Amino acid sequence: MSTIFSQIVEGEIPARIVYEDETTIAFLDANPLAPGHTLVIPKDEHERLNDVPEDVASDLYATIHRLVPAVEDAVDADASTVAFNNGDAAGQEVPHVHCHIIPRFEGDGGGPIHGVAGDPPELADDELDAIADDVESRA
Ligand code: AMP
Repeated sequence: MSTIFSQIVEGEIPARIVYEDETTIAFLDANPLAPGHTLVIPKDEHERLNDVPEDVASDLYATIHRLVPAVEDAVDADASTVAFNNGDAAGQEVPHVHCHIIPRFEGDGGGPIHGVAGDPPELADDELDAIADDVESRA
C-alpha cells in the first residue's frame, strides 16, 4: 500500500508543492505548526532515514539546504527548526521519510529540540565512554 506522501508524488491527492526534482519533492504541511511549515521527502518510499540510499540521501539534503532559506525568507522567519521524526517511538506517523522545516519566530512560545525527549538520563563517565566506543565501532 502506498503512503499518503507517495499519493502526493503521484498527483493522486492535492498538495501545495513548493519544489520538485527527479528524486525529491517538498510541499506545505497540511497541519502547519507555523506559517510555511514544509515537508521535504524522497519521492521513493523509504520508511526511515537509514533506509534511504546514499545518493538519494545526498539529494534529500541538497533539497533541504535549498528550501530552508526559501521557507524562512517567504514567511520572514527569524530561524527554523529542521527535524525528522525517525521511527514510531520518535513520533513518526507517516512511514515515508520526511524532513520538517518549521519556521521559528522570536517569542513564538516554542522550544528547542532538546524538549523532544523524556527526562534526561544521568550517565556516568564510564557509561558515556562505553556508548561512544560502541557507536564509533558501528559508524
Ligand atoms: P510525522 O509525525 O513526522 O510523521 O509528521 C507527518 C506530517 O505529515 C504531519 O505534520 C501532518 O500534518 C503531515 N501530513 C499528513 N498528511 C498530509 C498531507 N496530505 N499533505 C501534507 N501534509 C500532510
